[in-house]
Amino acid sequence: MESIVVAVDGPAGAGKSTICKLVANKLNLEYIDTGAMYRALTLKVLNKNINVNSVEEIMNILGNTKIDLINRSVFLDGKDVSDEIRTPYVSENVSSIAKISEVRDVLVKMQRDMANEKNVIMDGRDIGSRVLKNATLKIFLTASVEERAERRYKEFKNKGILVSLEEVIRDIEERDRVDSTREVTPLKRAEDAVLVDTTGKSIDDVVEEIIALIKRG
Ligand code: C5P
Repeated sequence: MESIVVAVDGPAGAGKSTICKLVANKLNLEYIDTGAMYRALTLKVLNKNINVNSVEEIMNILGNTKIDLINRSVFLDGKDVSDEIRTPYVSENVSSIAKISEVRDVLVKMQRDMANEKNVIMDGRDIGSRVLKNATLKIFLTASVEERAERRYKEFKNKGILVSLEEVIRDIEERDRVDSTREVTPLKRAEDAVLVDTTGKSIDDVVEEIIALIKRG
């Protein structure tokens, strides 16, 4: 069988990880959450009280950092940080670190190594445009800002994290702004990516839509 490499990009809260996990389960693909890698590094930088604009210090830290994605959990230097990396504090700071080109070079290499010779579905912001340019299928997943914020808000509520809907909207808009206007590989639909707008659609419908696209080849 030919290998399957699916690249999924899109703005914050579009449902990328939820949908990718379900597609991965159904088609037996490995799911790689690249946002989790940027988040893990951000958590370490914040824990060490380092300024998020201090490129040299951040690169020093990255050189001594181990980030592993194992069974859909995220390990930072051997510690499971899957929940910690989703807190609003990390979310608010991650885009500042993700815009550093030196950081991206290192993480992109790690991501390519992880995808090597496997059937994968990888999500992020630059997967179709940079990391896996030769992907068999590229998808740009999006939804209205209101719907993306509502979904994130519900997720936080379910986890007992206290935030207001306004804060979530502000975070999403600000991350979209920084991610789409940064100099290095800004969030942008690759020319050959299929646009999937999830506004008003159920998760199951979107999963089926993507599986149909993958099967069509
Ligand atoms: O996907 P998620 O929302 O968890 O990503 C967190 C942040 O990591 C994004 O807002 C973006 O700044 C950064 N990111 C990126 N490139 C990727 C994945 C995530 O710049 N491939």
